[in-house]
Amino acid sequence: MNEVYLSIGTNIGEREKNLQRAIQALMEQSAVQVTHVSSIYETAAVGYTEQADFLNIAVAVETTLIAQEILEVCQSIENELGRVREMRWGPRIIDLDILLYNQENIETENLIIPHPRMFERAFVLVPLQEIAPSNGKVHEKATHILQAFDIEQEGVTLWKKVDSIEEFMRN
Ligand code: AMP
Repeated sequence: MNEVYLSIGTNIGEREKNLQRAIQALMEQSAVQVTHVSSIYETAAVGYTEQADFLNIAVAVETTLIAQEILEVCQSIENELGRVREMRWGPRIIDLDILLYNQENIETENLIIPHPRMFERAFVLVPLQEIAPSNGKVHEKATHILQAFDIEQEGVTLWKKVDSIEEFMRN
């Protein structure tokens, strides 16, 4: 079984519902088992800053799918939830990124894992730190960075504490 970490963000519409719909869509995939969902964090937009704040979570899944297939699942969920790709760094209903796939380094035409920008993004690392084991079972670089990482990062605030997937999906 492959252990995969995803990052999900949204800054349009009913943001919490968008996250729940994305998790629901992942759960509906027969080859994907959602094992952990982080608390929800709110983050000021980076890059193009004249847009609404994001809600961000990290999600752990177990899957028999290869990385490329997970990318296709993520993109089909983005399409299903009605993401309109207008601006690269602009507002989005939902954005799913693959952060880590086992301990592998993958580089193909359309996929880079670990995600190339994850190590400089507090809004990715803060939720990931909550659910990733610190026992070296995740990618080595991620383990080192997460251990050294200061969780009190500016611009990333706890929006809703979540202790289980059931609680996440309840409201
Ligand atoms: P974005 O607009 O941030 O969702 O970027 C999507 C594009 O990034 C897609 O064309 C993917 O092929 C590419 N990509 C490269 N590496 C990754 C990754 N680790 N997770 C998700 N998308 C990726």
